[in-house]
Amino acid sequence: MQLRIRDAVIDYDIVHRPVKYARLEFKDGMLRVIVPKGYGNAAAFIEKNTDWIYDKHLHLQRVIALAGEKRLEKKLAEPHFHSLVESIVQRLQRELEVEVRDLTFRKMKRKWASCSSNKKLVFNRHMIYLPDNLIEYIVYHELLHLIEFKHNKRFWGLVENKYPQRQKYDLELAAYWHLIKKTFY
Ligand SMILES: [Zn+2]
Repeated sequence: MQLRIRDAVIDYDIVHRPVKYARLEFKDGMLRVIVPKGYGNAAAFIEKNTDWIYDKHLHLQRVIALAGEKRLEKKLAEPHFHSLVESIVQRLQRELEVEVRDLTFRKMKRKWASCSSNKKLVFNRHMIYLPDNLIEYIVYHELLHLIEFKHNKRFWGLVENKYPQRQKYDLELAAYWHLIKKTFY
């Protein structure tokens, strides 16, 4: 089915699932309207959320366009990539006066990295495809979690002190993520 919002034509599906409340998601570039079984008024639900849908759609178009300009390339062999991340961690640890307890690499399907409350960092091995500045951005983000664990206002304030251009970086990361998903999953 197709939905027209302002200048955009958006493909969508209505999916019935055993959920309590209706919700929206974009999956593989396609809008899904997930509604409880027997839900009558999907149209009204869509209508109520047109701004959200439009913004998400535009964002996705931007990500896909940017991904089209990029290629996945391993510039380093795996051991060198690990050393690179480790050296960035060392440097930023000193800058932020924090200390990591453990650092591992894993292939992950959902995120670039994670930080546990016991100071253990996990980095996604797919980061090997990223340019150095984005690798550093991810490391910085994870190390900041040793100062502020939650993604709250204080946390994003700290990110923006160092990266006023963070939205640009987030868009770049989303474009690489799009390519990785398309290539491997
Ligand atoms: Zn985080």
